[in-house]
Amino acid sequence: MRKIERSASRVNLLGLTFDQLKSEFSQAGLTPLDAKRVFPWIHMKLAKSFDVMTDAPLRVRKILKENYSIDRPECAVLQKSSDGTQKALLKLEDENFIETVLIPEEKRTTVCVSSQIGCAMGCKFCRTGTQKFTRNLTAAEIISQVFFWKDLFPKTITNIVFMGMGEPLLNFENLSNALTLLLSEKAHNFSRHKITVSTSGIVENAIADLAKFGVKLAISLHASDDEKRSSIMPVNRKYPMENVLRAAKEYLQNSNTSHITFEYLLLRGANDSDEDAIQLVKLLRSIKCRVNLILFNNWPGSSFSGSDRNKANNFSRLLLSRGIRAVVRKSRGEDILAACGQLSTEQNRFNSRA
Ligand code: SAH
Ligand code: SF4
Repeated sequence: MRKIERSASRVNLLGLTFDQLKSEFSQAGLTPLDAKRVFPWIHMKLAKSFDVMTDAPLRVRKILKENYSIDRPECAVLQKSSDGTQKALLKLEDENFIETVLIPEEKRTTVCVSSQIGCAMGCKFCRTGTQKFTRNLTAAEIISQVFFWKDLFPKTITNIVFMGMGEPLLNFENLSNALTLLLSEKAHNFSRHKITVSTSGIVENAIADLAKFGVKLAISLHASDDEKRSSIMPVNRKYPMENVLRAAKEYLQNSNTSHITFEYLLLRGANDSDEDAIQLVKLLRSIKCRVNLILFNNWPGSSFSGSDRNKANNFSRLLLSRGIRAVVRKSRGEDILAACGQLSTEQNRFNSRA
């Protein structure tokens, strides 16, 4: 059963799919026609109050105001990087904080979304991984990050990546709601090719279940053998590489996507040797894929350092010359610690100590 998100006594409607809105409304004495009127106001016209929904009768608007909210989280801090990337720290109703990032590029503008507060996966190189897992974000909290940026920059967002704080596939139900709303023609109407879900490799059911949405899948690989991967990503002990790669192949078949993106963070002396590259080629040869080589974003207290540009270019050349499409990914928003996957909040650290 879906857990209904109530603030004090009001249900937040941002995270409800159209069908859920209809059934929610039926309990409040509202009709499917009311839902049909209200839904586009919320998701297409980005209404911030029920008062503007002038095609809904006054009686309906009164019920809406009494029972429901379409509130977005409050923005506690908005930081702008010298390269145009922006990072927002959003305050949730329970005083937890999440981060979301806007990345403008020449031909697209991407929003990076968080799915959990903290992360239980504990990857050694990841700043979020050092934070204890607090809770899953609700569907409303996930999609409200998109609302937040759309409110500021209407009509500019072209892509969504689930690469913020947390492991999206461990919050599957709420991720599903958010994806349904993002993909729906009557809501946010993103093409499935413009949405990427990134996972550390949660194999059991989750990758397979995601296939029905047909969105792009990114898998954080970061090593080319189980021993190395387990030493930096504890999740690999539960889901070893063989299982992850099998799930990747199945995803390609079932989702009708053109390729899987493998993310590979280059860590100096840990996974960036020529042998690592050659071993990676062997693993990925039979999978339609692209490899994003990520330059490590350092953070205070990290025990790793990143490979330098030359090393990264060399690693990339080794893959390319053996037929694997690879790019070294430019890091954005470094000066404000806004890189995807690096999100964390001093604020939550402070709260958890208190
Ligand atoms: N939990 C999911 C999605 C969030 S992390 C996952 O792990 O895929 C998004 C990406 O950022 C992952 O590939 C992650 O490994 C990477 N990442 C984590 N810490 C990083 C850092 N310090 N520098 C660069 N990328 C990092
Ligand atoms: Fe969690 Fe992803 Fe960070 Fe690993 S890299 S700790 S899965 S957010």
